Amino acid sequence: MTNTTTPNTKDSTTETEKMPEQAIISSITSAVSEQRLPAGTKLGEQMLSDLFNCNRANVRRALSTLATMHVVELRPNKGAFIVTPSPKEAEDVFEARRTIECTLACSVIKNATAEDTANMRRTIAAEAKARARGDKPAELRLSREFHMHLATIANNQVLEKFLTELTLRTTLIIGLYNEVGSSDCAEDEHLGIVQAIEARDVQGLIFLIDEHLHHLQSSLNFEHVNKPFSTLAERLTITPS
Ligand SMILES: [Zn+2]
Repeated sequence: MTNTTTPNTKDSTTETEKMPEQAIISSITSAVSEQRLPAGTKLGEQMLSDLFNCNRANVRRALSTLATMHVVELRPNKGAFIVTPSPKEAEDVFEARRTIECTLACSVIKNATAEDTANMRRTIAAEAKARARGDKPAELRLSREFHMHLATIANNQVLEKFLTELTLRTTLIIGLYNEVGSSDCAEDEHLGIVQAIEARDVQGLIFLIDEHLHHLQSSLNFEHVNKPFSTLAERLTITPS
């Protein structure tokens, strides 16, 4: 989520100095959305405080916020970890996404402008380019962005907040249970969704969204679990000073 409440200050302090919690939250959600921080990764308080050059109270506040988004799990006496969704949670997340995205469809059809669908087409094109050059993090980020267009166009901030959380959890689920770890958001399926919006075809749009999310879900294999590796600093793309 972009922060639209940037204070109107004239000082030159960095985002990390002004809002360390927000910087940590943004960095972790961005890493999760690109599968750089997979399920089960430990998020050490001291390491985060060193990486973000802030105190541990800031880190704890950021981790608490991420816990309310179901991105981070706080385990008593063990610390914070990126959540590891169970197969049941994975099913629940997909069911919730189908419910929300299909509900958004009516408002999307009502509100969508030519500029909106042009933006969606640009996202599809960027996603295809990322896929062609083998840039998996960009592909994942853009796939998620495509779905977030639905919430933005529908202009329902409550559902947008839910969808932000659910799409992040979906990325974790796919990273954990998809053997190839890809987004599997097929380009032609995204294109079909845009075409249904342009045709103002509500029933067609609902059908395509539902079918697309079922395809994504069917790519999961709960017998197969991908294991995390490499360091937290590498996964947050931060160079320790
Ligand atoms: Zn998709």
